[in-house]
Amino acid sequence: MGPLQIKDLLLQAPESQSVILKGWVRTKRESKNAIFIALNDGSTINNIQAVAQPGQFSPELLLTVTTGSCLKITGKLVESMGSGQAVEVQIDDIHVYGTADPEVYPLQPKKHSLEFLREIAHLRPRTNTFGAILRIRHTLAFAINKYFNDKGFFYLHTPIITASDAEGAGEMFRVTTLDLDKLPRTDEGAINFKEDFFGREANLTVSGQLEGELGAMALSKIYTFGPTFRAENSNTTRHLAEFWMIEPEMAFFELQDNMDLAEDFVKTVISYALEHCKDDLNFLQNRLTEEEKSKPQNERSLPLLEKLSFVVDNPFERLTYTEAIEILLQSKPHKEKKFQYPVGWGIDLSSEHERYLVEKHFKKPVILTNYPREIKSFYMKLDEDGKTVRAMDVLFPGIGEIIGGSQREDNYEKLLERVHEVGIDPETIWWYLETRKFGTAPHSGFGLGFERLVLFVTGMSNIRDVIPFPRYPKSAEF
Ligand code: ATP
Ligand code: MN
Repeated sequence: MGPLQIKDLLLQAPESQSVILKGWVRTKRESKNAIFIALNDGSTINNIQAVAQPGQFSPELLLTVTTGSCLKITGKLVESMGSGQAVEVQIDDIHVYGTADPEVYPLQPKKHSLEFLREIAHLRPRTNTFGAILRIRHTLAFAINKYFNDKGFFYLHTPIITASDAEGAGEMFRVTTLDLDKLPRTDEGAINFKEDFFGREANLTVSGQLEGELGAMALSKIYTFGPTFRAENSNTTRHLAEFWMIEPEMAFFELQDNMDLAEDFVKTVISYALEHCKDDLNFLQNRLTEEEKSKPQNERSLPLLEKLSFVVDNPFERLTYTEAIEILLQSKPHKEKKFQYPVGWGIDLSSEHERYLVEKHFKKPVILTNYPREIKSFYMKLDEDGKTVRAMDVLFPGIGEIIGGSQREDNYEKLLERVHEVGIDPETIWWYLETRKFGTAPHSGFGLGFERLVLFVTGMSNIRDVIPFPRYPKSAEF
């Protein structure tokens, strides 16, 4: 089906066999003795070199073979005389599917800034960097599905449109079919959502967790892997308005089991990428090393592959929130008043605190547990002391929070008390509360932001560069 991919052609033994290449020109180089075309079809970071003889093709045709143009080349696979590749193609025929006028085609063979590439997100997948990122992203997505399937989890598809805003995870995007110019009003003058599509207010989901729990109370182990939306106006390098989240939810798992799963899960999918994306990771590693050359030695980071292997090979540090606060209070930046935000029991750790723990103190991934109830969600299970909840956050170097999870409150009365405490109308989540009335069970789960994982694995620094078409404030062009 379809032509052979360049990734596979590059592995064939050269026996002058006829081959067909289809792909986009990366570069064309003419020397006295030959014309070299580097072709790429996105199946691999590596180009295949196709060679023509001078005079073999008309100057008119060759003028249309430029960076970005799309070709079909027929020829013979032979051993390459040049260095850097084992095989190349002796061209018999060239068919130009599509030209790319070099006067206007923006991707010329030179270094483009990531900011510029964001403005041409429709073309950036054709660069080496984005090709590598997109292939790694795919491989991680595959590894995630494989991991859960191998472990007996079921992929549960939770709704994208929800009516509950109980999760409180972030600001929501409205979903409506009402005519914004002629909004129906109630007698009191409020917008009459009874006339809206669902007969009530609806939003895009911020998390599949609540529905995920319903699945776990029947199938025992489920996971979701879908888009989530947060209308938070945060212009950071770690937040998107639309991102993909993986949320496993497990009956009969307590906090300890939850932590063990989270750690094993991220290690397994990262090692899958290490094994299956060698060429792409090497390319990104070299790119980063190149970028950091201007930095002084002590500010450079570990080479990408070393950083990833380190995470896979070493146990994550586990400690309670209370212990973390102790460490922060004893820390140099606290004593020297270098932290921007104050430290004390009860604070919501800010990213400078998280980064101190991960990057300076422990120098490895950290799992923090048992946070004060006041700063965590209503559904987290209360500890015996009544002050903390069985929450866990996994913090990664350079990223901060990559996973947020908890053991869930499985006691109906305690859950209802928390619902009232945070001001949620129990009527709006009656279905969620019923799981605690009918066959309740200890259970746990967590959420992993997929793009934060891709960010870590690719070593990129802006989350907008690890999703094909990023959504963020004032940007939804492509
Ligand atoms: P943060 O404090 O970083 O904003 P959060 O506490 O809002 O995160 P959760 O609601 O626990 O995050 O969501 C679970 C996971 O989803 C986070 O650990 C993170 O990996 C990811 N995540 C959260 N918000 C975003 C976002 N806006 N863009 C990308 N990923 C996100
Ligand atoms: Mn947030």
